[in-house]
Amino acid sequence: DVMIHAGKVTKTFGQGAGKVTALDAVSVDIRKNEFFTLLGPSGCGKTTLLRLIAGFELPDGGQILLDGQEIGHLPPYKRPVNTVFQSYALFPHMSVARNIGFGLEMQGRPKSEIKEATDRMLALVQMEHLADRRTDQLSGGQQQRVALARALAPKPKVLLLDEPLSALDLKLRKEMQIELKRLQEETGITFVFVTHDQEEALTMSDRIAVMKSGAILQVGAPKQIYNNPARRFVADFIGDINILDGKLAENGAKVVLPGGASVGALLAEGAARDGRVSVAIRPENMGLTAPDATDAALKGRVSNIVYFGAGHNLHVQLDGGGEVMVRRAQSEAEIGAPVGLTVPDAVQVLVD
Ligand code: ADP
Ligand code: MG
Repeated sequence: DVMIHAGKVTKTFGQGAGKVTALDAVSVDIRKNEFFTLLGPSGCGKTTLLRLIAGFELPDGGQILLDGQEIGHLPPYKRPVNTVFQSYALFPHMSVARNIGFGLEMQGRPKSEIKEATDRMLALVQMEHLADRRTDQLSGGQQQRVALARALAPKPKVLLLDEPLSALDLKLRKEMQIELKRLQEETGITFVFVTHDQEEALTMSDRIAVMKSGAILQVGAPKQIYNNPARRFVADFIGDINILDGKLAENGAKVVLPGGASVGALLAEGAARDGRVSVAIRPENMGLTAPDATDAALKGRVSNIVYFGAGHNLHVQLDGGGEVMVRRAQSEAEIGAPVGLTVPDAVQVLVD
């Protein structure tokens, strides 16, 4: 069930030599009731896509449907969409309750309805005890909750969130990630969330769209994006990953690693079935074994061991050249030791 359909949406800014293509024929379907995240580096077009959905910008080409309706001609306030910005934009001199009810007040809704909705929202964000507090007397996290409650009060079909947690410190931010996910699940409203933080995207999302330079490179569930990145950029952008040279064999069923070991190949749809390729393996999906063990797919020497609290990263210089990183709970080897490395039965092959 699709809530938002974007079809070949293009948006450029400026003209002549200063022309910037912020979105280049972007197509995506965002489903009803999902927590959907746009993830990508600064300048890739995330905010522009949100602003087009909200109606603050108009596309140069393509179409945007919301719940089956073409909304391109509607002004922002007539779209069943609300936005939470990074700066919460609360009214500092007004109470928490008045801030939350403000949108409904502006729509001229009856007092009883505003009161009912405000109380419901206060409970939802667990702020009942602070209903009468001025918002300039709240902490950053509390202000964030009020901003969310205010945006959810008119029951929009879609809530757009543009890096709403980036002003919070790390600990509070992690709490709010869980909180936001809970709010989305409880309200059933479709959330479109923007972040440049891969860990945040993996934590909260039902699905993630990874963007680069005005294009969506891959859409998938967090585990899919993490374990099976189809493109080199996606693999590199999310988490630590080892990228090795490989050669496809057996009509794309196998890939030969440096050193000659052959393992199963996971190919993206439409990928070539032979030739030289790049292969991606997560550091936590490699193991250590003896250099002469039959399951040693790669061989090398430990060049460094870095402890990071939850485990160790072992850097291994490969015999044929190149270096990989292996993540283990225990260090399992000493610097200088010759080791064999195990890899999964099948590994992801990347498209550039
Ligand atoms: P993101 O949110 O992913 O950081 P944006 O959507 O803000 O990226 O921007 C995408 C590209 O469009 C950038 O190159 C940015 O400089 C450009 N851009 C965005 N808004 C404007 C604008 N109003 N005028 C000119 N260029 C813009
Ligand atoms: Mg932005």
